[in-house]
Amino acid sequence: MPPTVPALIDALLHGEGPTRRRALAKAITLVESTRDDHRAQADALLDAVMPHTGHALRLGISGVPGVGKSTFIEALGMFLLARGYRVAVLAVDPSSSLSGGSILGDKTRMERLSMDERAYIRPSPSAGTLGGVAEKTREALLLCEAAGHDVVIVETVGVGQSETAVAAMTDGFVLLQLPNAGDDLQALKKGVMEIADLVVINKADLDPVAATRARAQVTGALRLVGGVHAHGHAPGHAHAGDSAPAAASAPWSPRVMQLSALTGSGLDEFWTLVTAFRVHQQASGDLAARRHRQDQAWMWERIGSGLQQRFRQHAAVRDALAATTAAVREGRLAPSRAARGLLALMDGGVGSGLGPDPASTARSGLRPDPTPNALDHLNLRAPAALLRQLRDFYVDVVGLRDGPRPAFNSAGYWLYAGDAAVLHLSTQRDGEPPRGPVDAAAPGTYDHMAFRAPDRDAAAARLVARGVPFREARDERARQHQFFFSDPAGNGVELNFPYQE
Ligand code: GDP
Repeated sequence: MPPTVPALIDALLHGEGPTRRRALAKAITLVESTRDDHRAQADALLDAVMPHTGHALRLGISGVPGVGKSTFIEALGMFLLARGYRVAVLAVDPSSSLSGGSILGDKTRMERLSMDERAYIRPSPSAGTLGGVAEKTREALLLCEAAGHDVVIVETVGVGQSETAVAAMTDGFVLLQLPNAGDDLQALKKGVMEIADLVVINKADLDPVAATRARAQVTGALRLVGGVHAHGHAPGHAHAGDSAPAAASAPWSPRVMQLSALTGSGLDEFWTLVTAFRVHQQASGDLAARRHRQDQAWMWERIGSGLQQRFRQHAAVRDALAATTAAVREGRLAPSRAARGLLALMDGGVGSGLGPDPASTARSGLRPDPTPNALDHLNLRAPAALLRQLRDFYVDVVGLRDGPRPAFNSAGYWLYAGDAAVLHLSTQRDGEPPRGPVDAAAPGTYDHMAFRAPDRDAAAARLVARGVPFREARDERARQHQFFFSDPAGNGVELNFPYQE
Protein backbone atom coordinates (compact mmCIF):
# COMPACT_ATOMS: atom_id res chain seq x y z
CA MET A 1 0.00 0.00 0.00
CA PRO A 2 1.58 3.32 -0.99
CA PRO A 3 2.13 5.74 1.89
CA THR A 4 -0.52 8.13 0.54
CA VAL A 5 -3.33 5.70 1.29
CA PRO A 6 -2.82 5.45 5.08
CA ALA A 7 -2.53 9.24 5.18
CA LEU A 8 -5.72 9.52 3.17
CA ILE A 9 -7.53 7.10 5.46
CA ASP A 10 -6.41 9.06 8.50
CA ALA A 11 -7.51 12.39 7.02
CA LEU A 12 -10.83 10.90 5.93
CA LEU A 13 -11.65 9.42 9.32
CA HIS A 14 -10.12 12.00 11.64
CA GLY A 15 -9.39 15.15 9.63
CA GLU A 16 -10.71 18.53 10.67
CA GLY A 17 -12.97 20.67 8.48
CA PRO A 18 -11.44 21.41 5.09
CA THR A 19 -8.77 18.69 5.51
CA ARG A 20 -11.45 16.06 5.84
CA ARG A 21 -13.44 17.44 2.93
CA ARG A 22 -10.35 17.43 0.71
CA ALA A 23 -9.56 13.88 1.78
CA LEU A 24 -13.10 12.85 0.85
CA ALA A 25 -12.77 14.45 -2.58
CA LYS A 26 -9.44 12.68 -3.13
CA ALA A 27 -10.80 9.36 -1.90
CA ILE A 28 -13.77 9.55 -4.28
CA THR A 29 -11.46 10.46 -7.14
CA LEU A 30 -9.43 7.36 -6.29
CA VAL A 31 -12.43 5.00 -6.37
CA GLU A 32 -13.63 6.60 -9.60
CA SER A 33 -10.30 5.98 -11.31
CA THR A 34 -10.15 3.18 -13.82
CA ARG A 35 -6.41 2.61 -13.45
CA ASP A 36 -5.50 -0.81 -12.11
CA ASP A 37 -3.05 0.49 -9.51
CA HIS A 38 -5.65 3.00 -8.35
CA ARG A 39 -8.18 0.22 -8.04
CA ALA A 40 -5.88 -1.66 -5.70
CA GLN A 41 -5.45 1.48 -3.59
CA ALA A 42 -9.19 2.12 -3.65
CA ASP A 43 -9.84 -1.41 -2.41
CA ALA A 44 -7.38 -0.93 0.44
CA LEU A 45 -9.06 2.37 1.28
CA LEU A 46 -12.55 0.87 1.24
CA ASP A 47 -11.45 -2.08 3.37
CA ALA A 48 -10.04 0.31 5.95
CA VAL A 49 -13.10 2.56 6.14
CA MET A 50 -15.81 -0.12 6.04
CA PRO A 51 -16.03 -0.36 9.86
CA HIS A 52 -16.76 3.38 9.94
CA THR A 53 -19.73 3.21 7.57
CA GLY A 54 -23.39 2.34 7.89
CA HIS A 55 -24.62 4.98 10.33
CA ALA A 56 -25.90 7.52 7.80
CA LEU A 57 -29.37 8.00 6.47
CA ARG A 58 -29.10 7.25 2.75
CA LEU A 59 -31.80 9.04 0.82
CA GLY A 60 -32.45 8.67 -2.89
CA ILE A 61 -34.14 11.60 -4.65
CA SER A 62 -35.47 11.55 -8.18
CA GLY A 63 -37.71 13.50 -10.50
CA VAL A 64 -37.85 14.78 -14.03
CA PRO A 65 -35.59 17.69 -15.02
CA GLY A 66 -37.13 20.94 -13.85
CA VAL A 67 -39.22 19.41 -11.06
CA GLY A 68 -37.00 21.20 -8.57
CA LYS A 69 -34.52 18.59 -7.37
CA SER A 70 -31.58 20.88 -6.86
CA THR A 71 -33.76 23.59 -5.31
CA PHE A 72 -35.23 20.99 -2.98
CA ILE A 73 -31.91 19.36 -2.09
CA GLU A 74 -30.34 22.71 -1.38
CA ALA A 75 -33.27 23.76 0.82
CA LEU A 76 -33.26 20.41 2.61
CA GLY A 77 -29.48 20.51 2.95
CA MET A 78 -29.52 23.97 4.55
CA PHE A 79 -32.41 22.87 6.79
CA LEU A 80 -30.39 19.85 7.96
CA LEU A 81 -27.14 21.79 8.44
CA ALA A 82 -29.07 24.18 10.68
CA ARG A 83 -30.07 21.18 12.79
CA GLY A 84 -26.51 19.97 13.16
CA TYR A 85 -26.46 17.28 10.48
CA ARG A 86 -23.64 16.94 8.01
CA VAL A 87 -24.95 16.45 4.52
CA ALA A 88 -23.42 14.94 1.41
CA VAL A 89 -25.00 14.96 -2.04
CA LEU A 90 -24.02 12.49 -4.75
CA ALA A 91 -25.49 12.19 -8.20
CA VAL A 92 -26.17 9.34 -10.57
CA ASP A 93 -26.60 10.88 -13.98
CA PRO A 94 -27.08 8.36 -16.75
CA SER A 95 -26.58 11.05 -19.39
CA SER A 96 -23.17 12.09 -18.12
CA SER A 97 -21.53 9.06 -19.72
CA LEU A 98 -22.83 10.22 -23.08
CA SER A 99 -22.24 13.93 -22.78
CA GLY A 100 -18.94 13.56 -20.95
CA GLY A 101 -20.16 16.05 -18.39
CA SER A 102 -22.71 15.88 -15.67
CA ILE A 103 -25.88 17.93 -15.96
CA LEU A 104 -26.38 17.33 -12.26
CA GLY A 105 -22.90 18.55 -11.53
CA ASP A 106 -23.54 22.01 -12.88
CA LYS A 107 -21.52 24.36 -10.65
CA THR A 108 -24.28 26.89 -10.34
CA ARG A 109 -26.58 24.38 -8.70
CA MET A 110 -26.88 24.30 -4.91
CA GLU A 111 -24.57 27.23 -4.55
CA ARG A 112 -25.27 27.94 -0.90
CA LEU A 113 -24.98 24.32 0.11
CA SER A 114 -21.76 23.74 -1.81
CA MET A 115 -20.14 26.73 -0.11
CA ASP A 116 -20.80 25.38 3.36
CA GLU A 117 -17.87 23.30 4.51
CA ARG A 118 -20.12 20.96 6.53
CA ALA A 119 -21.69 19.88 3.26
CA TYR A 120 -20.12 17.93 0.42
CA ILE A 121 -21.48 17.84 -3.13
CA ARG A 122 -20.15 15.54 -5.80
CA PRO A 123 -21.35 15.38 -9.40
CA SER A 124 -21.92 12.09 -11.16
CA PRO A 125 -18.87 10.23 -12.43
CA SER A 126 -18.76 11.08 -16.09
CA ALA A 127 -17.43 7.85 -17.53
CA GLY A 128 -18.84 4.41 -17.94
CA THR A 129 -22.15 2.69 -18.12
CA LEU A 130 -24.98 3.26 -15.67
CA GLY A 131 -23.79 0.12 -13.87
CA GLY A 132 -20.29 1.53 -13.58
CA VAL A 133 -21.53 4.92 -12.43
CA ALA A 134 -23.81 3.28 -9.86
CA GLU A 135 -20.92 1.17 -8.60
CA LYS A 136 -18.70 4.18 -8.07
CA THR A 137 -21.52 6.13 -6.44
CA ARG A 138 -22.07 3.28 -3.98
CA GLU A 139 -18.44 3.42 -3.01
CA ALA A 140 -18.52 7.21 -2.81
CA LEU A 141 -21.51 6.87 -0.49
CA LEU A 142 -19.51 4.68 1.88
CA LEU A 143 -16.65 7.18 1.81
CA CYS A 144 -19.06 10.03 2.66
CA GLU A 145 -20.23 8.06 5.67
CA ALA A 146 -16.67 7.37 6.75
CA ALA A 147 -16.00 11.11 6.46
CA GLY A 148 -18.73 11.74 9.01
CA HIS A 149 -21.68 12.75 6.86
CA ASP A 150 -24.86 11.57 8.52
CA VAL A 151 -27.29 12.28 5.71
CA VAL A 152 -26.20 11.18 2.25
CA ILE A 153 -28.50 12.20 -0.58
CA VAL A 154 -28.18 10.42 -3.91
CA GLU A 155 -29.86 12.39 -6.66
CA THR A 156 -30.84 11.15 -10.07
CA VAL A 157 -32.91 12.33 -12.99
CA GLY A 158 -36.17 10.59 -13.68
CA VAL A 159 -35.30 9.04 -16.97
CA GLY A 160 -35.52 5.33 -16.34
CA GLN A 161 -33.22 2.73 -14.88
CA SER A 162 -31.13 5.13 -12.85
CA GLU A 163 -33.95 5.30 -10.27
CA THR A 164 -33.77 1.58 -9.69
CA ALA A 165 -30.01 1.83 -9.30
CA VAL A 166 -30.38 4.63 -6.75
CA ALA A 167 -33.15 2.87 -4.83
CA ALA A 168 -30.82 -0.14 -4.65
CA MET A 169 -28.18 1.84 -2.77
CA THR A 170 -30.32 3.98 -0.46
CA ASP A 171 -32.49 3.41 2.59
CA GLY A 172 -35.41 5.46 1.31
CA PHE A 173 -36.46 6.73 -2.07
CA VAL A 174 -38.16 10.09 -2.60
CA LEU A 175 -39.91 10.90 -5.85
CA LEU A 176 -40.50 14.55 -6.70
CA GLN A 177 -43.57 15.32 -8.80
CA LEU A 178 -44.99 18.45 -10.36
CA PRO A 179 -48.46 19.61 -9.28
CA ASN A 180 -49.86 18.85 -12.71
CA ALA A 181 -48.40 15.35 -12.85
CA GLY A 182 -51.51 13.91 -11.26
CA ASP A 183 -53.54 14.86 -14.32
CA ASP A 184 -51.35 12.72 -16.41
CA LEU A 185 -51.00 9.35 -14.82
CA GLN A 186 -48.67 8.44 -17.66
CA ALA A 187 -46.12 10.53 -15.86
CA LEU A 188 -46.39 8.27 -12.86
CA LYS A 189 -44.19 5.56 -14.15
CA LYS A 190 -45.33 2.38 -12.53
CA GLY A 191 -41.89 1.04 -11.83
CA VAL A 192 -40.80 4.24 -10.12
CA MET A 193 -43.96 4.57 -8.06
CA GLU A 194 -43.37 1.08 -6.78
CA ILE A 195 -40.00 1.96 -5.34
CA ALA A 196 -40.99 5.32 -3.84
CA ASP A 197 -41.22 5.52 -0.06
CA LEU A 198 -42.21 9.17 -0.21
CA VAL A 199 -43.75 11.18 -3.03
CA VAL A 200 -43.35 14.93 -2.83
CA ILE A 201 -45.51 17.26 -4.90
CA ASN A 202 -43.19 20.22 -5.34
CA LYS A 203 -43.99 23.80 -6.37
CA ALA A 204 -47.17 23.75 -4.28
CA ASP A 205 -46.78 27.55 -3.98
CA LEU A 206 -47.61 27.98 -7.66
CA ASP A 207 -51.06 26.42 -7.46
CA PRO A 208 -52.05 25.05 -4.05
CA VAL A 209 -55.33 23.68 -5.38
CA ALA A 210 -53.62 21.75 -8.15
CA ALA A 211 -51.04 20.48 -5.67
CA THR A 212 -53.72 19.18 -3.33
CA ARG A 213 -55.49 17.50 -6.21
CA ALA A 214 -52.22 16.01 -7.42
CA ARG A 215 -51.58 14.67 -3.96
CA ALA A 216 -54.92 12.85 -3.91
CA GLN A 217 -54.35 11.53 -7.40
CA VAL A 218 -50.88 10.26 -6.65
CA THR A 219 -52.17 8.62 -3.49
CA GLY A 220 -54.80 6.87 -5.62
CA ALA A 221 -52.19 5.84 -8.16
CA LEU A 222 -50.02 4.44 -5.38
CA ARG A 223 -52.95 2.37 -4.17
CA LEU A 224 -53.37 1.04 -7.71
CA VAL A 225 -49.80 -0.13 -7.88
CA GLY A 226 -50.16 -1.63 -4.44
CA GLY A 227 -47.81 0.79 -2.78
CA VAL A 228 -50.21 2.21 -0.21
CA HIS A 229 -51.42 -0.49 2.12
CA ALA A 230 -54.91 -0.45 3.50
CA HIS A 231 -53.85 -0.39 7.12
CA GLY A 232 -53.11 2.86 8.86
CA HIS A 233 -55.60 4.79 6.78
CA ALA A 234 -59.21 5.25 7.66
CA PRO A 235 -61.53 4.60 4.72
CA GLY A 236 -61.84 7.71 2.62
CA HIS A 237 -58.71 9.16 4.13
CA ALA A 238 -57.31 10.87 1.09
CA HIS A 239 -53.92 11.95 2.32
CA ALA A 240 -51.64 9.13 3.17
CA GLY A 241 -49.16 11.65 4.47
CA ASP A 242 -51.47 12.65 7.29
CA SER A 243 -51.51 9.31 8.97
CA ALA A 244 -49.34 8.47 11.94
CA PRO A 245 -46.41 6.14 11.42
CA ALA A 246 -47.70 2.63 10.99
CA ALA A 247 -47.10 0.04 13.67
CA ALA A 248 -43.58 -1.30 13.49
CA SER A 249 -44.75 -4.73 12.43
CA ALA A 250 -46.74 -3.49 9.44
CA PRO A 251 -45.00 -2.61 6.18
CA TRP A 252 -44.35 1.05 5.49
CA SER A 253 -47.01 2.74 3.40
CA PRO A 254 -45.59 5.25 0.95
CA ARG A 255 -46.63 8.79 1.91
CA VAL A 256 -47.57 11.62 -0.38
CA MET A 257 -47.09 15.24 0.61
CA GLN A 258 -46.81 18.64 -1.00
CA LEU A 259 -44.27 21.35 -0.41
CA SER A 260 -42.49 24.28 -1.95
CA ALA A 261 -38.76 23.90 -2.32
CA LEU A 262 -38.56 27.53 -3.31
CA THR A 263 -40.21 28.98 -0.20
CA GLY A 264 -39.22 26.13 2.09
CA SER A 265 -42.78 25.62 3.25
CA GLY A 266 -43.41 21.96 4.00
CA LEU A 267 -39.75 21.08 4.64
CA ASP A 268 -40.51 20.55 8.32
CA GLU A 269 -43.25 18.13 7.48
CA PHE A 270 -41.01 16.37 5.01
CA TRP A 271 -38.31 15.84 7.62
CA THR A 272 -40.88 14.64 10.14
CA LEU A 273 -42.03 12.04 7.63
CA VAL A 274 -38.49 10.96 6.84
CA THR A 275 -37.82 10.60 10.54
CA ALA A 276 -40.99 8.53 10.96
CA PHE A 277 -39.88 6.38 8.06
CA ARG A 278 -36.47 5.91 9.66
CA VAL A 279 -37.93 4.99 13.04
CA HIS A 280 -40.25 2.50 11.38
CA GLN A 281 -37.39 1.02 9.37
CA GLN A 282 -35.23 0.54 12.41
CA ALA A 283 -37.96 -0.79 14.69
CA SER A 284 -39.28 -3.24 12.11
CA GLY A 285 -35.91 -4.56 11.00
CA ASP A 286 -36.64 -3.32 7.48
CA LEU A 287 -33.47 -1.26 7.42
CA ALA A 288 -31.17 -4.16 8.24
CA ALA A 289 -33.05 -6.40 5.80
CA ARG A 290 -32.93 -3.80 3.03
CA ARG A 291 -29.23 -3.17 3.43
CA HIS A 292 -28.53 -6.87 3.62
CA ARG A 293 -30.44 -7.39 0.38
CA GLN A 294 -28.58 -4.50 -1.21
CA ASP A 295 -25.19 -5.87 -0.16
CA GLN A 296 -26.08 -9.28 -1.55
CA ALA A 297 -27.33 -7.80 -4.80
CA TRP A 298 -24.26 -5.61 -5.04
CA MET A 299 -21.97 -8.57 -4.55
CA TRP A 300 -23.77 -10.63 -7.19
CA GLU A 301 -23.82 -7.70 -9.57
CA ARG A 302 -20.03 -7.41 -9.17
CA ILE A 303 -19.67 -11.13 -9.75
CA GLY A 304 -21.83 -10.82 -12.83
CA SER A 305 -19.96 -7.93 -14.32
CA GLY A 306 -16.60 -9.46 -13.39
CA LEU A 307 -17.56 -12.66 -15.17
CA GLN A 308 -18.80 -10.73 -18.15
CA GLN A 309 -15.54 -8.83 -18.35
CA ARG A 310 -13.54 -12.07 -18.19
CA PHE A 311 -15.84 -13.58 -20.78
CA ARG A 312 -15.26 -10.72 -23.21
CA GLN A 313 -11.52 -10.82 -22.66
CA HIS A 314 -11.25 -14.58 -23.12
CA ALA A 315 -9.24 -15.30 -26.27
CA ALA A 316 -11.43 -18.09 -27.64
CA VAL A 317 -14.56 -16.06 -26.98
CA ARG A 318 -13.08 -12.97 -28.59
CA ASP A 319 -12.22 -14.98 -31.69
CA ALA A 320 -15.71 -16.38 -32.06
CA LEU A 321 -17.80 -13.46 -30.82
CA ALA A 322 -18.18 -11.42 -34.00
CA ALA A 323 -19.06 -14.37 -36.21
CA THR A 324 -21.42 -15.82 -33.62
CA THR A 325 -23.14 -12.48 -33.18
CA ALA A 326 -23.52 -12.26 -36.95
CA ALA A 327 -24.90 -15.79 -37.08
CA VAL A 328 -27.53 -14.89 -34.49
CA ARG A 329 -28.37 -11.68 -36.34
CA GLU A 330 -28.82 -13.57 -39.59
CA GLY A 331 -30.95 -16.21 -37.96
CA ARG A 332 -28.49 -19.04 -38.54
CA LEU A 333 -27.99 -19.74 -34.87
CA ALA A 334 -30.45 -19.64 -32.01
CA PRO A 335 -29.47 -17.05 -29.37
CA SER A 336 -29.66 -19.65 -26.62
CA ARG A 337 -27.34 -21.98 -28.42
CA ALA A 338 -24.98 -19.14 -29.28
CA ALA A 339 -24.84 -18.18 -25.61
CA ARG A 340 -24.27 -21.73 -24.42
CA GLY A 341 -21.62 -22.26 -27.06
CA LEU A 342 -19.72 -19.11 -26.22
CA LEU A 343 -19.92 -19.85 -22.52
CA ALA A 344 -18.55 -23.31 -23.17
CA LEU A 345 -15.65 -21.75 -25.07
CA MET A 346 -14.75 -19.82 -21.95
CA ASP A 347 -14.39 -23.09 -20.08
CA GLY A 348 -11.54 -23.98 -22.41
CA GLY A 349 -10.95 -27.54 -23.66
CA VAL A 350 -13.23 -29.18 -21.19
CA GLY A 351 -16.77 -28.89 -22.38
CA SER A 352 -15.92 -27.02 -25.53
CA GLY A 353 -13.16 -28.72 -27.43
CA LEU A 354 -13.31 -32.09 -28.94
CA GLY A 355 -12.99 -34.62 -26.25
CA PRO A 356 -14.05 -37.97 -25.01
CA ASP A 357 -17.46 -38.40 -23.59
CA PRO A 358 -17.52 -41.36 -21.26
CA ALA A 359 -21.26 -41.71 -21.76
CA SER A 360 -20.88 -42.24 -25.48
CA THR A 361 -18.01 -44.66 -25.20
CA ALA A 362 -20.23 -47.69 -25.08
CA ARG A 363 -21.69 -46.76 -28.42
CA SER A 364 -18.48 -46.84 -30.34
CA GLY A 365 -16.67 -49.46 -28.36
CA LEU A 366 -13.81 -47.21 -27.31
CA ARG A 367 -12.55 -47.20 -23.78
CA PRO A 368 -13.05 -44.07 -21.75
CA ASP A 369 -10.10 -41.94 -22.66
CA PRO A 370 -9.18 -38.75 -20.84
CA THR A 371 -7.32 -37.37 -23.86
CA PRO A 372 -9.18 -34.61 -25.73
CA ASN A 373 -9.69 -35.08 -29.46
CA ALA A 374 -10.13 -38.80 -28.95
CA LEU A 375 -10.53 -40.52 -32.26
CA ASP A 376 -13.70 -42.47 -32.30
CA HIS A 377 -13.47 -44.23 -35.64
CA LEU A 378 -12.77 -43.82 -39.34
CA ASN A 379 -15.51 -44.63 -41.72
CA LEU A 380 -15.10 -46.18 -45.12
CA ARG A 381 -18.17 -45.92 -47.26
CA ALA A 382 -18.46 -48.42 -50.09
CA PRO A 383 -21.10 -50.01 -52.28
CA ALA A 384 -22.42 -53.24 -50.80
CA ALA A 385 -20.57 -55.40 -53.32
CA LEU A 386 -17.23 -53.98 -52.20
CA LEU A 387 -17.91 -54.02 -48.50
CA ARG A 388 -17.13 -57.68 -47.76
CA GLN A 389 -13.94 -57.40 -49.79
CA LEU A 390 -12.79 -54.42 -47.76
CA ARG A 391 -13.64 -56.18 -44.52
CA ASP A 392 -11.56 -59.16 -45.49
CA PHE A 393 -8.68 -56.91 -46.52
CA TYR A 394 -8.61 -55.04 -43.23
CA VAL A 395 -8.96 -58.24 -41.21
CA ASP A 396 -6.68 -60.50 -43.18
CA VAL A 397 -4.08 -58.06 -44.45
CA VAL A 398 -4.07 -55.19 -41.98
CA GLY A 399 -4.82 -57.33 -38.94
CA LEU A 400 -7.90 -55.61 -37.57
CA ARG A 401 -10.45 -57.72 -35.78
CA ASP A 402 -14.10 -57.95 -36.81
CA GLY A 403 -16.03 -57.02 -33.69
CA PRO A 404 -19.47 -56.21 -32.31
CA ARG A 405 -21.54 -53.35 -33.58
CA PRO A 406 -22.00 -50.51 -31.19
CA ALA A 407 -25.26 -50.25 -29.35
CA PHE A 408 -26.93 -48.17 -32.01
CA ASN A 409 -26.72 -51.07 -34.44
CA SER A 410 -25.14 -49.20 -37.27
CA ALA A 411 -24.99 -51.29 -40.37
CA GLY A 412 -21.79 -52.64 -41.89
CA TYR A 413 -18.65 -53.90 -40.21
CA TRP A 414 -16.94 -52.59 -37.15
CA LEU A 415 -13.27 -53.41 -37.11
CA TYR A 416 -11.24 -53.28 -33.94
CA ALA A 417 -7.63 -52.54 -33.16
CA GLY A 418 -7.09 -54.12 -29.79
CA ASP A 419 -10.34 -53.44 -27.93
CA ALA A 420 -11.04 -50.15 -29.71
CA ALA A 421 -13.35 -49.92 -32.68
CA VAL A 422 -11.48 -47.80 -35.17
CA LEU A 423 -12.85 -48.57 -38.60
CA HIS A 424 -16.45 -48.64 -39.67
CA LEU A 425 -17.23 -50.08 -43.08
CA SER A 426 -20.65 -49.11 -44.27
CA THR A 427 -22.84 -48.71 -47.29
CA GLN A 428 -24.86 -45.71 -48.11
CA ARG A 429 -28.39 -46.52 -47.10
CA ASP A 430 -31.29 -45.82 -49.44
CA GLY A 431 -32.29 -42.23 -49.32
CA GLU A 432 -29.39 -41.29 -47.08
CA PRO A 433 -27.59 -38.21 -48.29
CA PRO A 434 -23.85 -38.39 -48.80
CA ARG A 435 -22.05 -37.43 -45.62
CA GLY A 436 -18.78 -36.18 -47.00
CA PRO A 437 -18.10 -35.28 -50.59
CA VAL A 438 -15.78 -38.25 -50.90
CA ASP A 439 -18.30 -41.03 -50.64
CA ALA A 440 -20.33 -39.65 -53.47
CA ALA A 441 -17.35 -39.02 -55.71
CA ALA A 442 -15.21 -42.07 -55.23
CA PRO A 443 -16.90 -45.15 -53.84
CA GLY A 444 -14.76 -47.28 -51.63
CA THR A 445 -12.51 -44.55 -50.34
CA TYR A 446 -12.19 -43.06 -46.94
CA ASP A 447 -15.41 -41.19 -46.15
CA HIS A 448 -15.09 -39.53 -42.80
CA MET A 449 -13.43 -39.75 -39.44
CA ALA A 450 -15.44 -39.43 -36.30
CA PHE A 451 -14.56 -37.77 -33.04
CA ARG A 452 -16.42 -37.76 -29.83
CA ALA A 453 -17.02 -34.27 -28.52
CA PRO A 454 -18.75 -33.41 -25.29
CA ASP A 455 -20.44 -30.14 -26.08
CA ARG A 456 -22.69 -29.78 -29.07
CA ASP A 457 -23.41 -26.09 -28.60
CA ALA A 458 -19.75 -25.18 -28.36
CA ALA A 459 -18.99 -27.19 -31.48
CA ALA A 460 -21.87 -25.56 -33.35
CA ALA A 461 -20.64 -22.13 -32.28
CA ARG A 462 -17.14 -22.89 -33.55
CA LEU A 463 -18.40 -24.21 -36.86
CA VAL A 464 -20.67 -21.24 -37.37
CA ALA A 465 -17.92 -18.86 -36.35
CA ARG A 466 -15.65 -20.31 -39.01
CA GLY A 467 -18.37 -20.44 -41.63
CA VAL A 468 -18.28 -24.22 -41.96
CA PRO A 469 -21.60 -25.58 -43.15
CA PHE A 470 -22.63 -28.73 -41.30
CA ARG A 471 -25.45 -31.19 -41.36
CA GLU A 472 -26.93 -32.14 -38.05
CA ALA A 473 -28.34 -35.59 -37.36
CA ARG A 474 -30.19 -36.65 -34.30
CA ASP A 475 -30.55 -40.30 -33.54
CA GLU A 476 -33.01 -40.83 -30.73
CA ARG A 477 -32.46 -44.56 -30.69
CA ALA A 478 -28.71 -44.30 -30.40
CA ARG A 479 -29.18 -41.33 -28.11
CA GLN A 480 -26.61 -39.34 -29.94
CA HIS A 481 -26.32 -36.24 -32.08
CA GLN A 482 -23.92 -35.89 -34.93
CA PHE A 483 -22.57 -33.09 -37.03
CA PHE A 484 -21.24 -33.91 -40.48
CA PHE A 485 -19.02 -31.51 -42.36
CA SER A 486 -15.95 -31.39 -44.55
CA ASP A 487 -12.45 -30.31 -43.70
CA PRO A 488 -10.89 -27.72 -46.04
CA ALA A 489 -9.46 -30.58 -48.13
CA GLY A 490 -12.87 -32.13 -48.55
CA ASN A 491 -12.51 -35.00 -46.08
CA GLY A 492 -15.65 -35.81 -44.17
CA VAL A 493 -15.59 -35.23 -40.43
CA GLU A 494 -18.15 -36.38 -37.95
CA LEU A 495 -18.53 -35.12 -34.42
CA ASN A 496 -20.75 -37.11 -32.17
CA PHE A 497 -22.21 -35.94 -28.95
CA PRO A 498 -24.01 -37.38 -26.02
CA TYR A 499 -27.73 -36.98 -26.41
CA GLN A 500 -29.14 -33.68 -25.21
CA GLU A 501 -32.89 -33.25 -24.96
P1 GDP B 1 -34.12 20.17 -11.28
O1 GDP B 1 -33.84 20.15 -12.75
O2 GDP B 1 -35.08 19.09 -10.89
O3 GDP B 1 -32.90 20.17 -10.42
O4 GDP B 1 -34.92 21.52 -10.98
P2 GDP B 1 -34.40 22.90 -10.38
O5 GDP B 1 -34.17 22.76 -8.92
O6 GDP B 1 -33.25 23.39 -11.21
O7 GDP B 1 -35.67 23.79 -10.58
C1 GDP B 1 -36.19 24.12 -11.85
C2 GDP B 1 -36.90 25.45 -11.77
O8 GDP B 1 -38.03 25.33 -10.92
C3 GDP B 1 -36.03 26.54 -11.21
O9 GDP B 1 -36.31 27.73 -11.91
C4 GDP B 1 -36.50 26.66 -9.77
O10 GDP B 1 -36.35 27.94 -9.24
C5 GDP B 1 -37.96 26.30 -9.90
N1 GDP B 1 -38.50 25.72 -8.66
C6 GDP B 1 -38.00 24.71 -7.97
N2 GDP B 1 -38.76 24.44 -6.89
C7 GDP B 1 -39.78 25.32 -6.92
C8 GDP B 1 -40.90 25.56 -6.06
O11 GDP B 1 -41.14 24.90 -5.06
N3 GDP B 1 -41.74 26.57 -6.43
C9 GDP B 1 -41.53 27.31 -7.53
N4 GDP B 1 -42.38 28.27 -7.81
N5 GDP B 1 -40.48 27.11 -8.35
C10 GDP B 1 -39.62 26.15 -8.03
